[in-house]
Parts: sequence; C-alpha cells; structure tokens
Amino acid sequence: MDMLANFINGRTVPPVGGSYLDNIEPATGRVYARVPDSTAGDVNAAVAAARAAFPAWSTLPAAERSRLLLRLADLIDANLDRLARAESIDTGKPIALARSLDIPRAAANFRFFASAVVGAASQFHDTMLDDGGQAFNYTLRRPRGVAGLISPWNLPLYLLTWKVAPALATGNTAVAKPSEVTPVTASMLGELAAEAGLPPGVLNIVHGSGAGAGAALVQHPEVPTISFTGSTAVGRWIAQAAGPMFKRLSLELGGKNPYLVFADADMGAALDTAVRAAFSNQGQICLCGSRMLIERPAYDRFLTGLVERAKSLRIGDPLDPATQHGAITSRVQLDKIDSYVRLARELGGTIHCGGTPVDPAWLPERSRAGFFYSPTVISGLPADCRVEQEEVFGPVVTVSPFDSEAEAVTRANCTPYGLAASLWTRDLSRAHRVAAALESGIVWVNCWMLRDLRTPFGGVKQSGLGREGGAEALRFFTEPRNVCVRL
Ligand code: NAD
Repeated sequence: MDMLANFINGRTVPPVGGSYLDNIEPATGRVYARVPDSTAGDVNAAVAAARAAFPAWSTLPAAERSRLLLRLADLIDANLDRLARAESIDTGKPIALARSLDIPRAAANFRFFASAVVGAASQFHDTMLDDGGQAFNYTLRRPRGVAGLISPWNLPLYLLTWKVAPALATGNTAVAKPSEVTPVTASMLGELAAEAGLPPGVLNIVHGSGAGAGAALVQHPEVPTISFTGSTAVGRWIAQAAGPMFKRLSLELGGKNPYLVFADADMGAALDTAVRAAFSNQGQICLCGSRMLIERPAYDRFLTGLVERAKSLRIGDPLDPATQHGAITSRVQLDKIDSYVRLARELGGTIHCGGTPVDPAWLPERSRAGFFYSPTVISGLPADCRVEQEEVFGPVVTVSPFDSEAEAVTRANCTPYGLAASLWTRDLSRAHRVAAALESGIVWVNCWMLRDLRTPFGGVKQSGLGREGGAEALRFFTEPRNVCVRL
C-alpha cells in the first residue's frame, strides 16, 4: 500500500504527529493508500519553508520563473498516463476523461500563467501615468508572500494547479492543502516540481483533513492570501476566520446551475451537450447543469431525448478506457446523492431513469463494492424545494417547463447560487438579453464548459467571492504599490 508524504522544503516528509488517513478507491471501496493527517506543526514547517524561499523566488526574473513552470508543464505532459491513472483511481472518474481533460488542463494552467507574466503576450505589467508635467506615478505589482491554496476532490490536479500556477508565476511561494479524499496527483505534483528544478520551499504540499491542516493554514498569521475552492459551507467558515485577519480571499464555491433551452434552439446540439453538462464526472463538476429549464413546446421532446441519452451512458470500471460513467468519489457523497433522490420521491417527483445506486450485478467483478450511482433524471418538483435549491453534486438533474422568457429568468435566478448557466436559443437578441439578466458568473450561449483562461472566472451570490482566471488571478496574487514622483 502507498504511504503518501508531505512535500516541504523540496523534500518528502512524514507528518510530525505520525497520523494517517485511509485513502479509498471509489471504484472498489478498498483502501489503496494512506495520506498524512497533518496538523498545525506540519503547516508551520511548510509556511516557514515558503517564507524562507520567498525573497529569492520573488526577485528571480519573471522569465526564469516562467522557464521553470514551463518545464513543470512539460513534465506533466510526459507523465500523462501515470497521472491520468492515479487521478482515475483516486476520484473514480473515467480514465478517458482524466486523460483528455483534467491532466492536459493542469499542464495548460502552468503554460498559461508562465506565459502570462513574460513576453509580448504578457498580461502582467507595472503601469506609469504622467500627469502632464508636475509629477508622474508608477504602480508596481508585488507578490504578497506565502499563498495558502486549498482545493477540493472533484478535479483535484486541475483545480490545484489553477491556483499554484498564478501564485508562483507572480512570485509568491505557496503552501497547498489538497483534498484529503483525493491526494495522489497532488503528491505526484510535488515530485514533478522537484524534478523541474523548482527551488526548495517555493511549493509545499501539506496533506490532511480540512478541520486539521486546512484550518491551520487559513488561520496562520504569516499566510496573507487564501485561495479556496470547495463547498459554500466551508467557504463561509473561512470568510469568518480569515476576515478579522484582513487576509485576501478568493472563494470558489458551490453551484446549482440552470440549463435553459428555448424552443427555437438546435435541439440535437442542446441535448448532446445537456447529457455532458449533467453527467460528466458523474455530475461532480461545480459547473454541471443540474436544473434543466425547457420552454414548454420543446419540453416533451427534450425530456425524452435526455432520458434516452442518460440510459445509454456506459457505466463501468473507471480504469476501462471505454467507460463513460464511473464511480462517485466517496461513500459519503453517494449517500448524500441518494438522500436527495429519496427526498425527490417523497415530494412527488417523477424519476424517469436511474434513482438508485447501480446494481452491483451490472458491474465488473472488481467494482462490485464500489460507489456507483445511475444517471438520474427527475421532473415535477416545485422550484422552492430542497432538491431544486441545494447542490446535490452528483448525476442527478431535474427538468421543468417554462412558458415565458421572464419566467425562465426568474426560475433560473431563484437559488442562493450563481456560478454558471447555459442558455440555448437561435434568437440573437434574446441570447444577449437573457445572458445579461442571469445572476451567474459565466453564461454559456449554445455551449457548455468552454473555457478561455484569459477570462475572469468565479461565481456570484453564494457561489463565491473574488475572481480568478487571467488578469484577475495575476492581480489577486499581487499587491499594487504606487510611487508618486515630483518632477
Ligand atoms: P469541501 O469544502 O468539503 O472541501 C474543500 C477543501 O477544503 C478540502 O481540501 C478540505 O479538506 C478543505 N476544508 C474543509 N474544511 C476546512 C476548513 N475548516 N478549513 C480549511 N479547509 C477546509 O468541498 P469538497 O466536498 O471537497 O468539494 C465539493 C465542493 O466544491 C462542491 O460544493 C463544489 O461545487 C465545489 N467546487 C467549486 C468549484 C468552483 O470553481 N466554484 C470548483 C470545484 C468544486
């Protein structure tokens, strides 16, 4: 069995307290690795290493930092097979998805931010303003110090590198706390960072629970920047803990994303994309469309098409390259999903397909004790019930009709969340009008999950605080310092 280690000051080290947590493979239900259950002592050591590395790293020419991060991106590419396999075992996601999406995007994160701070395409520069003769002002952007980076289990390497890359590219050093549920690819990232030649202490990785290592990182007085991706409940706690310490916070939180289809839409494309939006990664992507709102004339056709497509997804061992629908990442998450479906039944909802864990008899021998849940489509629920309002974070979507544009917008906006929305119509004016009316950090028109890394990313309402992506991330991890010079 693999014993994972923390990565502190360029070396792999065991946790000071000697405690470990079990790491369970979702496709089998069996323990396959043990992960350090780190405490404040480990976090203190990591922060001390990051502080010691900061003066040299922050004054290294940006081009040199960029070169090292590009080398790390190349190493991620070179280890695609190994990383994809680890991510699939760790999360239960189909290996085909890990190979085509998560791991390549992790490399892309490093390439993007390594290039964003240097060269002709740089999005990151100091500014100078001449007031016309009396004085000129220049503004330097300086890294803020040690960044605390906390990430969730659903896209573990992709979301972790989305934070590590801009933090390091702008000259910060970092202490990362990956999810204790899916720690393996983060552990491999530490090894690859050392191989790429990152100086010791620039990137430190401390494993462990949220209440232990995570809370210690949030509360550490020498970590002025916290970038967190995870649930709204934990984000709320972090805001309360870090606010009085005047930390800079980025909170990327949960979603309950509407998928709006008007009757004039290209229905084939809307349906093909809907099945991906609903069930990719078993519905465990914060951007998944979980509330399908369909204009009444198209409702029956859409519902039938979605159910057909959901039933045809190939469920199986995540390590089988042909699998399209893998395991739920933990038993806790599986039970949570099932409890929402039971609630939907009690509320009188109609379950059109799925609605239960997958019958083990349908699974290959190796996966019979794994955490599999069938793709589930539900209709007939009121907009204000818990299933329509709360994040299920699994392969469960609700479908509801609407009769007017105004009703569609009201229903789309009627949850506490505002992360992402997808809108399908051929009417150009309506597309712009509805996109502007949706309370959502991103609105996709006639598509879903297309990402240009230059654009701001993040949610509104209870889906988050602050923005990441492109220039926003470069600003987030740096401090403007203005100098006014009298001429
Ligand atoms: P979670 O909030 O339980 O955990 C996220 C991370 O925070 C983990 O590393 C965990 O150990 C840590 N943590 C937990 N308690 C903590 C504490 N008190 N102090 C510091 N750290 C703590 O979330 P999860 O279950 O891992 O992830 C699923 C959630 O993440 C969903 O709500 C999903 O929508 C959200 N998510 C959001 C985005 C986005 O970009 N908005 C992306 C992916 C996932």
